[in-house]
Amino acid sequence: GMENPTLTFLTPTLMAGDRSLVAVVAHELAHSWTGNLVTNATWEDFWLNEGWTVYAERRILERLYGIEFTHLQAVSGRNDLRAAFKNFGEDSPYTKLKTDLTGIDPDEVFSSVPYEKGFLFIVAVERAVGREAFDGFIRSYIRNFKFSSITTSQFVEYLTKQLPDAAKKVDLNRWIHEPGLPDSAPEFASGMIDDVRNVRVRWDQGERDLRAAVAHWNTHQIVLFLEELPTRLPEADCAALDNLWVAQTKNCEILLPFYCIAAGSSYRKVFPAIRDFLSTIGRGKYLKPLYRTLHENPETRALACELFEEYKDRYHSVGRLAVQRILEK
Ligand SMILES: [Zn+2]
Repeated sequence: GMENPTLTFLTPTLMAGDRSLVAVVAHELAHSWTGNLVTNATWEDFWLNEGWTVYAERRILERLYGIEFTHLQAVSGRNDLRAAFKNFGEDSPYTKLKTDLTGIDPDEVFSSVPYEKGFLFIVAVERAVGREAFDGFIRSYIRNFKFSSITTSQFVEYLTKQLPDAAKKVDLNRWIHEPGLPDSAPEFASGMIDDVRNVRVRWDQGERDLRAAVAHWNTHQIVLFLEELPTRLPEADCAALDNLWVAQTKNCEILLPFYCIAAGSSYRKVFPAIRDFLSTIGRGKYLKPLYRTLHENPETRALACELFEEYKDRYHSVGRLAVQRILEK
């Protein structure tokens, strides 16, 4: 989505038919405060927009669907972050919250880091001072900086003044200026996550008749299960996943991790569906991981190049360039 003031743009892939992707709607609307009312001064401070907005989005989800659901999303976000760390390299400067983009096109290093690491940092501060004190801080922060653009150091200065306890308990320098995640990064517990991990244990023990165990799962539990599986599976396992969830969904959030598994496993049965997906979906969030997986598997590398050549003119220039970089590696 794109949070144009009073005219949010949303990608059609959010209309999954099951109302499962409202988080993005909440996200774009939350940008009215964090992003549009208080804005990052430079792209090096992008986390101020996105970390805060993911935090706001999840506070809205917590009110709508409860803490269990919200923590499930946070864990999924953490998986995205782990993937970004892997792509950049654990010690890469692009895993810092405050980046140095001298001579670098911000689009080139766009990732989940400002979103999910920013979110974790804000939760760390919230947990250090308690929610009540933190909510007071949010209000004063927005009021103080409304209609202005601020840098990370302005934020840190304000935080240190308003919440001196947080500045003592949370290693601000470690969070903001160093790569990777501190060991003390917030963890999230939820029965919905336990449920997914328990079924994973049964899956690892060889059980495949899991229909009853997952019948009540929501979209995000299915996504978490799929994204935590290895990307190379035997054909029979791909078929089991296909039968369990994929054959009857149009939800791109579920299709993407499954297609990544199918690509990594050379599961040819769904190659026509992958072609269909890459010919109709232009969202970088989906294009990049799927092309990356196709490219990493020597058996599908040629297919990745073929599909890209055929459909690249349908993609937005930013997404096209990102995929081109992946295929050149
Ligand atoms: Zn955003």
